Amino acid sequence: MTDYLVVGSGLFGATFAHEAAKRGHHVEVIEKRDHVAGNIYTKEIEGIQVHQFGAHIFHTKMKNIWDYVQQFAEFNNYINSPVANYNGEIYNLPFNMNTFNKLWGVKTPAEAAAKIEEQKKNANITEEPTNLEEQAISLVGPDIYEKLIKGYTEKQWGRKATDLPSFIIRRLPVRFIYDNNYFSDPYQGIPKGGYTKIIEKMLDNDLIDVKLNTDFFDNKDGYLESGKKIIFTGMIDQFFEYSLGELEYRSLRFESEVKDVDNYQGNAVVNYTDAETPYTRVIEHKHFEFGKGNKGKTVITHEYPKDWKRGDEPYYPIDNKQNRSLYKKYTELAEKNNDNVVFGGRLGQYRYYNMDQTIMSALRLVKNEFGE
Ligand code: FAD
Ligand code: UDP
Repeated sequence: MTDYLVVGSGLFGATFAHEAAKRGHHVEVIEKRDHVAGNIYTKEIEGIQVHQFGAHIFHTKMKNIWDYVQQFAEFNNYINSPVANYNGEIYNLPFNMNTFNKLWGVKTPAEAAAKIEEQKKNANITEEPTNLEEQAISLVGPDIYEKLIKGYTEKQWGRKATDLPSFIIRRLPVRFIYDNNYFSDPYQGIPKGGYTKIIEKMLDNDLIDVKLNTDFFDNKDGYLESGKKIIFTGMIDQFFEYSLGELEYRSLRFESEVKDVDNYQGNAVVNYTDAETPYTRVIEHKHFEFGKGNKGKTVITHEYPKDWKRGDEPYYPIDNKQNRSLYKKYTELAEKNNDNVVFGGRLGQYRYYNMDQTIMSALRLVKNEFGE
């Protein structure tokens, strides 16, 4: 039996710890925060599950991953349908017939497609898109780009849309049907009672010891010499003391407040897509569970994007050529020097993983480790 040290109690670390303990291995989990669950942490306030680190909607195309999470929670049938507020005008997301109708008055898919074609022609988009701005205009034309994409994207990423890779915007569907479902995945929902319970259930095994408020870097050498196999889900560049340089991250600031009303904004997620409003979204958490919570109370969170500097939470890896190449150099360093350390998760692998991809990646590691 191998002794494991899992650094980080987020979804990656907890999935791995659960599977290792199930196979009889002893696992120590250390977590620098004062709670488990990493960024999917939810906390009950006024009977409402508050997503403390940004709205989390579970969605996947992978039936095996959907089946896998069902053992840890019962999911409701929430479908994410955010709305956009552009200087007080309200539009449906993702870009679909409801959005096109409100913008241009078009009623049929043919009218909408013709309108987008006409817009693209006027914008002179012919070449293969080389950046996010060109990609967005070539998908939906300049009207939607200006009202629903440019301001939001530039706030979110802190740089010009012309300096961002095009794939970021390809995450969003463009649909010629009246359908406000933000995701195209067949499986979607929110765990009843919140995400923290999933992680607690994963870690509920006598072979797993969890230590909170424990930072790996306070005793790095000791952990490395302990003889335990280490699954590290923190930042890979920090692990190597930034010796090859810093990877870039985008950070966020969340401001939550309790409001003395039953229903504040009528939807779980409202995106503010103009450039002037300093926040990108306002979340009203009770709508993820169809209004569940104390009467006359609601909890909302404003989400402000910000630059990352050392000491801030690194919420988003910034996927571009320069960072990818630096990340590769760190993985080469890891291969050379650290046989006994595996890097996993959004920060260890420096990938913009959704929850389903995080679980899939942890289960792949389980297969590598245990061969089944
Ligand atoms: P994390 O959750 O970051 O866990 C890493 C853990 O390691 C943390 O608890 C951290 O404190 C700990 N740690 C780090 N360094 C150390 C150290 N030195 N010592 C000890 N502990 C350490 N996915 C979806 O599928 N749907 C969504 O709607 C969605 N929305 C998102 C919204 C936001 C704002 C963000 C940021 C992400 C969103 N995601 C969403 C992605 C989702 O959060 C991730 O896929 C998932 O949380 C990754 O899990 P992880 O374990 O890799 O990382
Ligand atoms: N986006 C946008 N307008 C919106 C919502 C999203 O322009 O109202 C863009 C933005 O660039 C964002 C990308 O689409 O980074 C992907 O959006 P998603 O909602 O998937 O981002 P995440 O949930 O990862 O923050």
